[in-house]
Amino acid sequence: MAEESAIFRLEGVTKTYGGVTALRDVSLSVSGNEYISLLGPSGSGKSTLLRVIAGFETPDRGRVFFNGRDITNIPAHERGIGFVFQNFALFPHLTVYDNVAFGLANGEKQVSRDEIDRRVREAIGLVGLAGMEGRGVHQISGGQKQRVALARTLVMAPSLVLLDEPLGALDANLRNRMRNELRSIRETLGVTFLHVTGSETEALAMGDRVVVLDRGRIAQFAKPDDVYAKPATPNVAHFLNRYNVFDGTLKDKTFTGPFGSLAVSATTPSDKSAYAVRYDRMQVEPDGSKGSGPAIPATFVASEYLGSSVMYFFETAEGKVIEVEHHLSLGAPKTYEPKSRYMLRWKPDDAIVFG
Ligand code: ADP
Repeated sequence: MAEESAIFRLEGVTKTYGGVTALRDVSLSVSGNEYISLLGPSGSGKSTLLRVIAGFETPDRGRVFFNGRDITNIPAHERGIGFVFQNFALFPHLTVYDNVAFGLANGEKQVSRDEIDRRVREAIGLVGLAGMEGRGVHQISGGQKQRVALARTLVMAPSLVLLDEPLGALDANLRNRMRNELRSIRETLGVTFLHVTGSETEALAMGDRVVVLDRGRIAQFAKPDDVYAKPATPNVAHFLNRYNVFDGTLKDKTFTGPFGSLAVSATTPSDKSAYAVRYDRMQVEPDGSKGSGPAIPATFVASEYLGSSVMYFFETAEGKVIEVEHHLSLGAPKTYEPKSRYMLRWKPDDAIVFG
């Protein structure tokens, strides 16, 4: 991607708070018309990254570019970048209409009343709240408040919208519905959304591409299916919550871990050695089964029904929990005897070996 076509670009951005480094030398370039998810565990620097792009924080080092212009030292309100807060940050005493109109009516740029009215009604319609213009924001549900917060941002016609855990305050049902709506609203507008989330499911479901942050650095920036199938580091595999990640050492194409020593063919270069196997690629066999391929004995602890699959939790002799996922499309749920030993087996080709 040519740099000129990037809608925003970070170059070597570092941000520290006292002794804490929140962002370390982050470089990132995103072109227009994309849904980008920003995933990482709590404290990995997601909010800081968003705040640096928005202009609420100034980086200690590095530059921020937006539409080809260096905005590192431009104040937030002059950047023309939209921001949707997790807690909505609406004006409680104003109606839906007035909340959405506020930025246009009180901005530095003069906008005619007719134009404000047209744009406010359009934004309210876009988020599915037509007919609710006159309601006070204390008279609407959490999901509707989130839509007002979105409409209030979109009415300013930003080409980049930053969303800080926008679905975090919603219940699970509503969150699923809003995921689809956010994606379709973004597609309608053709603008770029950068959506911060701590949920791997949300990040993979929503992003055209996913940025994974790990301790202030970008660990991976790729399409969701690539992140899912080919996590770049052991920590990314861990954050995805879909892989059993075993510690160990890799030497001369042999990985030594809690299951013994295994010859490995392909490896993923990484500064930490680890061996990862997806939850749904592990087979449960009776204790002492003599099948072929790598395996580890473990005791069955509990299971959890997830609707389309069942998760089984096992524990190794060293106390490591191993998760096995059984998709119900592949057959009825299995039952295992609590506290009994089983053999968990996988195909060598299903392992990702880091080191
Ligand atoms: P995330 O959004 O991924 O949870 P943050 O960007 O909020 O992570 O925080 C990254 C790191 O920076 C954390 O260690 C956090 O404690 C620290 N941090 C963030 N904001 C501040 C602040 N205003 N003052 C001091 N430390 C902060």
